[in-house]
Amino acid sequence: MILIFSAPSGAGKSTLVNYLLNQREDMELSISATTRSPRGNEVNGKEYYFITNDEFERLIQEDAFVEYENVYAGTYYGTLKSEIERIENKGHHVVFDIDVKGGMRLKELYGNHARSFFIAPPCIEELHKRLIGRATDSLDKIAERVKKASIEMEDQEHFDVIIVNDVLEDAKKQLDQEIKKFLKE
Ligand code: 5GP
Repeated sequence: MILIFSAPSGAGKSTLVNYLLNQREDMELSISATTRSPRGNEVNGKEYYFITNDEFERLIQEDAFVEYENVYAGTYYGTLKSEIERIENKGHHVVFDIDVKGGMRLKELYGNHARSFFIAPPCIEELHKRLIGRATDSLDKIAERVKKASIEMEDQEHFDVIIVNDVLEDAKKQLDQEIKKFLKE
């Protein structure tokens, strides 16, 4: 099965995805390819496959991606077909941490085999505060992310499940329930 997680940046999506992956040995994160530089402790092949622009564009030509996106101006992110095969061959469920457009595209592609989750911040002001608190991006980048977030909030109705991440423990509980329902456990 396919589990898709999308959210405006800073909504706490990665926290919830990591929570899920730490609990379940039958689930694995689809590692995307990106042309952005590693942040902090990020490692090639763990958070992302960090590749050059030329390499990314060669892979587009070779039709190696299920989907890809210019998420932020000049930065590519994409899901490699080989990555999904790698995880499915192990018999694991595939977990996607992907931007809102990419999430909608994957849901369209996988239909009933996929459950799409939209992780929403309580409000845009809170999201702005969280991004500043995280202190991993410049103020310009944060402004760009907040602007994109406001637009992305409008797409939440296209997702199967909306989780408002206000109190993290409540969000985790809702996630557990939804996963059980989807996997009929
Ligand atoms: P970040 O730079 O913060 O790691 O990620 C920026 C955004 O790109 C996030 O919303 C993340 O989910 C999204 N993203 C990561 N991988 C992919 C991908 O393969 N395809 C698409 N469309 N978006 C992705």
